[in-house]
Amino acid sequence: MPYKNLEEYCINVTDDVKERYKKIIEDLGEDSSRDGLLKTPERAAKALQFLTQGYHQDATEILKSAMFKETYDEMVIVKDIELYSLCEHHILPFFGKAHIAYIPNGHIVGLSKIPRIVDVFARRLQIQERLTEQILDCINDTLKPLGVAVVIEASHMCMMMSHRDIMCILNMGDFLLQ
Ligand SMILES: [Zn+2]
Repeated sequence: MPYKNLEEYCINVTDDVKERYKKIIEDLGEDSSRDGLLKTPERAAKALQFLTQGYHQDATEILKSAMFKETYDEMVIVKDIELYSLCEHHILPFFGKAHIAYIPNGHIVGLSKIPRIVDVFARRLQIQERLTEQILDCINDTLKPLGVAVVIEASHMCMMMSHRDIMCILNMGDFLLQ
């Protein structure tokens, strides 16, 4: 499936999730019929679909759509890719930056595709470790580079009380030798 930013929302899912959010708001002791909250369940239902749109996108296809034969074999680095994801344990945001490097092995990929695949895997219920691994595996399996490394540093809303940032580093291929 080609990459597409989800701007349309499934009516059935929106209606379903909307009703559940309304119940949650009431369970919290709020009045879901007061002015400020009237449209909140629908907005929240759409926001949640937006934040999990990665389930309907194919990162491999995105990379393949911009793969070029190339003899260039120096390390390619894309730094400071902003990422926004949802921690699957609390359904709370975690956000930060990804840094990705690979050493081409006959193919390079259009640089704009790297942030896109970060988005595809980030916009799901995630843990930072799996997110790092999925990005690494996708690049490794599709581009088949000589080496690939992914670093993600992120702050987790569910851990903000303790002000801890988490860093995940994974690498494969020639990076293992360094
Ligand atoms: Zn969490």
